[in-house]
Amino acid sequence: VKNVTKTFQVSKGFFAKKKYVHAVNDITFTIMQGETFSLVGESGCGKSTTGRLLDRLLTPDQGEIWFNGNEISKISENEMRPLRRDVQMIFQDPYGSLNPRMRIGDLIAEPLLIHTNLSAGERLKKVQELLEIVGLNAMYYERYPHEFSGGQRQRIGIARALTVRPKLVIADEPVSALDVSIQAQILNLLNDLQRNFNLTYLFISHDLSVVEMISDRIGVMYLGTIVETASKEELYENPRHPYTKALLSAVPFPDPAREKKRILLPGDLPSPVNPPSGCLFHTRCPHCTEFCKSQKPEVKLVGDNHAVKCHYPDLYEMK
Ligand code: SF4
Ligand code: MG
Repeated sequence: VKNVTKTFQVSKGFFAKKKYVHAVNDITFTIMQGETFSLVGESGCGKSTTGRLLDRLLTPDQGEIWFNGNEISKISENEMRPLRRDVQMIFQDPYGSLNPRMRIGDLIAEPLLIHTNLSAGERLKKVQELLEIVGLNAMYYERYPHEFSGGQRQRIGIARALTVRPKLVIADEPVSALDVSIQAQILNLLNDLQRNFNLTYLFISHDLSVVEMISDRIGVMYLGTIVETASKEELYENPRHPYTKALLSAVPFPDPAREKKRILLPGDLPSPVNPPSGCLFHTRCPHCTEFCKSQKPEVKLVGDNHAVKCHYPDLYEMK
């Protein structure tokens, strides 16, 4: 994903002045095959928009999105078709994303109908295999979504995403609607599936304690921009951006040695319709200078695979 920007027009009508939401603002990142790259940030920071751009539910205004050697934001729907099955999504709401009137066997088989020529018998066999792979009884295929718990429904959503053996799975807040104990089960399942099927994940979450359980690398988003990218270990042990630092200070870690002094950010999240000048974080940053108010920071490398968008990337350098 290279310098991608996506804006939405929010005011329409004859007299209204045109206004735009800067949903994604010049983001760049790479997801390596077989890894889990997570995007984390508060709601409205552009994570879900980024997921939809990668699934081509949206097209960027500017920038490039490359997938396996194809620039997917530019190619036609026809050229896209064979690639469609390579990218599948898992959604947050296991209640809303499954059609209540369809049997789960049909729900899981739906992508097979679209993307393959398998016979009804072959589809059923696949569905039963998939149900077992995600930890459900193979005979459940005749039941309806309301007969399952939230965690089971998310397993069904995962089975559906895996039906056509995708290369990239985009999981948008896949455990946010679930109880904490169930969250861990689903995250373990995703980890196992990744290992067994060589999957690559883009994992989207607002919750840094969830992200820690699944990620290899993490990008932290604020107001449509990625302010820091690092390996999980680097990010949690050596955060360099003041926003990451503040987010981490609010995570309750079970190990008291990891508890950080809570950093409370002043002010509210600015509106993405009217983003701040200079550094997008300057209105809330404890280290803001006059320079930050007018000058946009570039991305700076501060270590292997560790990049930060701040004029002063050495503020928190480990001594
Ligand atoms: Fe804070 Fe300035 Fe860095 Fe932005 S560039 S995060 S305002 S210190
Ligand atoms: Mg979202």
